[in-house]
Amino acid sequence: MGNGTGIGIYGANSGWSHSAPLGAFSSVFQAEVLAIDVCAGESLRRGHNGVHIRILSDSQAAIKALAASTINSKLVWDCYHNLCSLSQRNRVSLEWVAGHSGVMGNENADALARKGSLTPFIGPEPVVGIPKSSFRATINRWVTNQTTRRWSNLGGHALSKRMVAKPNPSASEELLRLSRREVRLVVGLVTGFTPLQFHLNCIGVTQDTTLCRLCGEAEEKASHIIFDCQALSTRRFQLFGSPTPMEAFPCTNLAKPLLALTKGLGLFDYTIESAEKHNKLPGFSAFGLPSP
Ligand SMILES: [Zn+2]
Repeated sequence: MGNGTGIGIYGANSGWSHSAPLGAFSSVFQAEVLAIDVCAGESLRRGHNGVHIRILSDSQAAIKALAASTINSKLVWDCYHNLCSLSQRNRVSLEWVAGHSGVMGNENADALARKGSLTPFIGPEPVVGIPKSSFRATINRWVTNQTTRRWSNLGGHALSKRMVAKPNPSASEELLRLSRREVRLVVGLVTGFTPLQFHLNCIGVTQDTTLCRLCGEAEEKASHIIFDCQALSTRRFQLFGSPTPMEAFPCTNLAKPLLALTKGLGLFDYTIESAEKHNKLPGFSAFGLPSP
């Protein structure tokens, strides 16, 4: 396992090669730019004059950053200036070569970079500035860890915890692509706050039986519909590969299977409008629903 990133430079004609560690905080992009900068710096130090210097890199990102009309990284800016200084007395070309494709010099440079990344860096870190992407990744990781810990330590919410274990950006994106009606249905099933017989009866909106309208064998709750209802065994097997899919959750993308599981059943047609029609609205409050 590596200790971080490293740079590798192989001089095909100069006979000069270089390998160095860049510590734990440098990105691969920074390493690629720094490698070009070190090449330019070494050529300047050698005092080349009137020669053609070719610097080959397999990093399109580094070359594009150096060729961009705007530079907002000090590392790229320093590298750009070294290349400009070098080109005042020499013909300098910066060229892209395909990485990991057997190009001899590139493979040697790659091996030197690997050696650098495996070498412990001795000295104060960071070696180069910490990139914004690292800040963002670290903060996002911290937020995810804190939210996950808070969620797992929170009392109750047994059904929701079984369905969703931790923050899940791809599940959020999936929900945002759905219609409002579909989002309401999925969130209702995941949280248990949904107009199924048991819940409506608990808050006094209906006085009908609390038994499942599909199988008549258990109370009609969200957890029963998702995990247990015998009438939905075939659908569950087709969607989750099991008639009792306890092990299928938590899962990354749960909206589509939940919508498919409950499609066309007419279980969630109870609306505030229908409650008003039957003058049964008193007692129906979003905050008065029983715990699932
Ligand atoms: Zn049932």
